[in-house]
Amino acid sequence: MSNENVSIEALGEIFRQHQTFAVMSHMRPDGDAIGSQLGLGLALEAMGKTVFYWNEDGLPENLEFLPCSEKIAQPPAEAPVIDVAIALDTATKVRLGENNLAAAAKASLWVNIDHHISNPRYGDVNYVDATSPATGQIVYDIITALGMPLPDGARDAIYVAVSTDTGSFQYDSTTARTYRMAADLVDRGLAVGEINAKTYDSHPFRRIELMRALLNTLELTCEGKLAHWQMLDQWRIDMDLKPEDSEGLIDMIRAIRGVQVAVFFEELPDGKIRVSMRSKDRSVNVCDIAAEFGGGGHALAAGIRMAGPMASAKELVLQAIQRVL
Ligand code: AMP
Ligand code: MN
Ligand code: MN
Repeated sequence: MSNENVSIEALGEIFRQHQTFAVMSHMRPDGDAIGSQLGLGLALEAMGKTVFYWNEDGLPENLEFLPCSEKIAQPPAEAPVIDVAIALDTATKVRLGENNLAAAAKASLWVNIDHHISNPRYGDVNYVDATSPATGQIVYDIITALGMPLPDGARDAIYVAVSTDTGSFQYDSTTARTYRMAADLVDRGLAVGEINAKTYDSHPFRRIELMRALLNTLELTCEGKLAHWQMLDQWRIDMDLKPEDSEGLIDMIRAIRGVQVAVFFEELPDGKIRVSMRSKDRSVNVCDIAAEFGGGGHALAAGIRMAGPMASAKELVLQAIQRVL
């Protein structure tokens, strides 16, 4: 394990010298997780490599529109032998999930490619760029710097990865380099209107029902600086919700004028509480707050998976935020 980033050339050597790869990402995958897997995996396949695409929770329904997304599978119990395990967009190794870790256990080399500032660099080789707005952009940097093939499926996947992690190219992590990347992907034939419609204008109705129920729990405290809402596990059963249905809804309360921190508390089927936090203010670092509870992420977007019940998790986390506000 090394704290230093490997060079992109060294990554290229690893790609050339091995034949069988598993590309993997964090459980409850988002657009950046799946998009990065498909982006790098399809490029490796185009080089003639054998690639497995594993995710603990499999492919979420909202990303089924991505070309070749059917390649994403839950890790098999009887896993094939792989040379290299590549974790993408995964802040800590445990976020890969137990089955995924077991399936990849025999890999001779672990590569960790990520953009989370809290990443402890758990790979044999690490390429962690916390200035990158999305792991998808790092994948793009690697593919283009090495002159690897960039198939159409990888092009679309990288675009969705970066678009979803930047709030549609809006957050201040978005740089000129990000727009240049997007322009290059458009030059390579990406259908902008079509892919954005599939990403953002195609929600199942149950997601809107969830939004309505969440709004009924919304509370504003700390003179309007802290907004939070909560989802009970029973709703998942009643509304037949999928994990991805809550993805991004927090942006709605983050967008309230005067709000500095938005928090989403979700009760999980195992009784644990998933906490999603967003800050609009560099002086409130939600990654540091998440770290107090074993979570992590980025300064302005972070998460925790902590013990329940809901009431005590809320009290602990809201108190920690209030101390900073
Ligand atoms: P989310 O609120 O789930 O969209 O996550 C916000 C950011 O924090 C993402 O970049 C996640 O990868 C990261 N994150 C979420 N949950 C955790 C966790 N339990 N540990 C470390 N990082 C997390
Ligand atoms: Mn992610
Ligand atoms: Mn990401």
